[in-house]
Order: sequence, then C-alpha cells, then structure tokens
Amino acid sequence: MHENFSLKPYNTFGVDAKARYFNEIHSIEELKEVIDFANTESLPILFLGGGSNVLLTKDFDGLAVKISLKGIHEDIISENHVLVTAKAGENWHEFVMFCLDKNYGGLENLSLIPGNVGTSPMQNIGAYGTEIKDVFVNCTVLNLENLQLETFNLEQCKFGYRDSVFKQEGKGKYVILEVTFKLTRQNHHIKTEYGAIKSELENLGIQNPTIQDISKAVINIRQSKLPDPKEIGNAGSFFKNPTILLTQFEELQQKFDNIQGYPNGDFVKVPAGWLIEQCGWKGRQIGNVASHKLQSLVIVNTSGLATGKEIFDFSTEIINSVKEKFGIELEREVNII
Ligand SMILES: Cc1cc2nc3c(=O)[nH]c(=O)nc-3n(C[C@H](O)[C@H](O)[C@H](O)COP(=O)(O)OP(=O)(O)OC[C@H]3O[C@@H](n4cnc5c(N)ncnc54)[C@H](O)[C@@H]3O)c2cc1C
Repeated sequence: MHENFSLKPYNTFGVDAKARYFNEIHSIEELKEVIDFANTESLPILFLGGGSNVLLTKDFDGLAVKISLKGIHEDIISENHVLVTAKAGENWHEFVMFCLDKNYGGLENLSLIPGNVGTSPMQNIGAYGTEIKDVFVNCTVLNLENLQLETFNLEQCKFGYRDSVFKQEGKGKYVILEVTFKLTRQNHHIKTEYGAIKSELENLGIQNPTIQDISKAVINIRQSKLPDPKEIGNAGSFFKNPTILLTQFEELQQKFDNIQGYPNGDFVKVPAGWLIEQCGWKGRQIGNVASHKLQSLVIVNTSGLATGKEIFDFSTEIINSVKEKFGIELEREVNII
C-alpha cells in the first residue's frame, strides 16, 4: 500500500493530485483485500482504469485502486459468432487489435479509444457510429456492499448516450471485473457512414473495406484531429453533445441560421463543439488550460502544470457562456472526482 501517492501518471490530464492511499490490484483476492482495508479505515475508494475519463479536482482523501486484472477468453458459439471476454485491466485499443488480428468484427469503429476494457461499459463508449452496446453481452461486477459477484446483461446496464446504470443509480456500488462481447467471425457489418470514414478510405485507395481497413481509417482520422494525451494532457471530449427539444432547436434556427443539429423524433442533438466554437472558445487559453485549437470539445493541460480545479473552472466558464448565448446547459462527460 502506497501512502500520499501522486496520481499524475494515472490520469491522462496529467493532474498532480495525491491519493492518501494507492494500490494496484491484479486479482480478485487482492481487490477484496484492499476493499476490506478501505472499509476498516472508513475510506472512500476511487477505482482507476486508464485514467482517461477522470478529472481529479483535489487530493483524494481515500484509497485509489488501479484495476490491472488481465486476460482474454474466446468462446466460438457458431459459424458466424464468437463471444470474447476480456478482464477489466486489458487496454481497450490493444483488445480491439487482438480481435481484429483474429478477424473478429464489431469493435473496429472503436479503435484507438484510450482507457481499459473494464471501463468501457461505464459510459457505453462510442465513436464513428458504434457504441459498445451494439456488441455487448454482459459484464461481471463485484458488489461493493456484500463482495458478491453479479452479472449485468445488456438490459440491466441501461446503456444510453455516454451513459449507463454505473453512472446513475449503480454509481459507486460496483467494480467491473470483466466484459463479454458478441463479435462476428464472418459476414461483418461494415460501417462507413459516420464522420470522415468514407473519405479516409478513398484517401487510402480502398473500395471494399475489411474490418481491418475500417480500423485503419478510424485510427488515421483520430490521430489527425485528437490530441495525444502522451503529448498534451486531456481526457478527450470534455462535454456531451446536448439533446434539446425540436421546438427549442427551431427557435434557435431563427437566430442562428447555421446552427447544426441531428434530429431524432421530438429531439435534436446539437454538436457541443460547434456551440463552444461559436462562443469563441476554440484555441482560447487561460493560465495552464485551453480549449484545443483543432477540437474545441477537448480541454487540454497546456503546460502540464494545470490543477484539476483550474481545468474544472475553465469548463464552468465554457458552460456559462454556452448557456448565455444559446440557453443550452452543457453537461460534462468527464467524471469529476
Ligand atoms: C484522446 C481521448 C479520446 C477519447 N475518445 C473517446 C471516444 O471516442 N469515445 C468515448 O466514448 N470516450 C472517449 N474518450 C474517453 C475515455 O477514453 C473513455 O471514457 C474510456 O472508457 C475511459 O476508460 P479509462 O479506463 O481510462 O477510465 P478511467 O478514467 O480510469 O475511469 C472512468 C470512470 O470509471 C470508474 N472506473 C474505472 N475503472 C472501473 C471499474 N473497473 N469498475 C467500476 N468503475 C470504474 C472511475 O472511477 C471513473 O469514474 C477519450 C479520451 C481521450 C483521452
């Protein structure tokens, strides 16, 4: 058990917050031991995967636990499908690459998302027209109250846009241990509709893409527009894209004729990046924090010295100006600790 431990290498914002205690666990037995310790000492617990979706706004007066359970298991269930189960501590992108090497389809559009497998259900990670709910079967969790194992199926996870039961009523009650996905072995569903995938495939001179080609296109697009946390601290999109009523959207269209939106029944999803940009935040810096020059939805720790509070306050200023100009309240996607 480490004491007074810097979490700087354990969060992709690179914020130098300290945990009163820190431990990395590699087995369920170790996990139960550290939970016992926290319960005995009446300490709150912070679970960490890759630390790519957390903002540590202050020192954590409790026990931070890095989940490093490893292992991947495959179960071929038919000519066309395989169930693949990965432990929580497997790196997400390496897991996607493992599946693509075996020609298992379904995760290719989710290539290069930072973080670990065990965290993927937390916010139903999504990108380029795919969310994990599309291929999710179940996840095994440890109930923190009674230390019993439980299984959550697709329905029980209540997946939504960047949302799940684990961010709502189940928040802080479970630790996810492993996740099972149902992937295709042949007749893959190739998804090229979203974002710049088609044009990137054209650039690559590919006409009939394989799942591996889709992954390559997604990787190229992501590398060209998203800052690499190894070079500049960030947690990807800081805010969710807000969903507003169609009537509110139509009113806004009267004032802002170039407002963008994706209608869905009585609702419209508005790109948060566009709203933030319209408020003049793209590339703007205050102290050690900025909105990224290529992608205003991403907040970056420019000097590497930003405190979590500085980043949080910066995000509040963005929320306030979007609210003032458009009457839309942005919601943070990043978990605020
Ligand atoms: C450059 C960049 C690009 C990104 N792009 C995308 C994207 O396209 N789509 C997308 O959806 N996300 C994206 N993200 C966000 C992030 O990668 C995902 O949310 C990812 O799933 C977080 O995984 P993690 O292991 O790093 O989680 P962490 O940051 O370690 O944890 C996130 C939350 O889950 C909790 N937690 C961690 N492990 C467990 C566990 N085993 N059981 C229970 N709770 C746990 C933590 O306490 C915390 O509240 C991006 C991030 C970056 C930095």
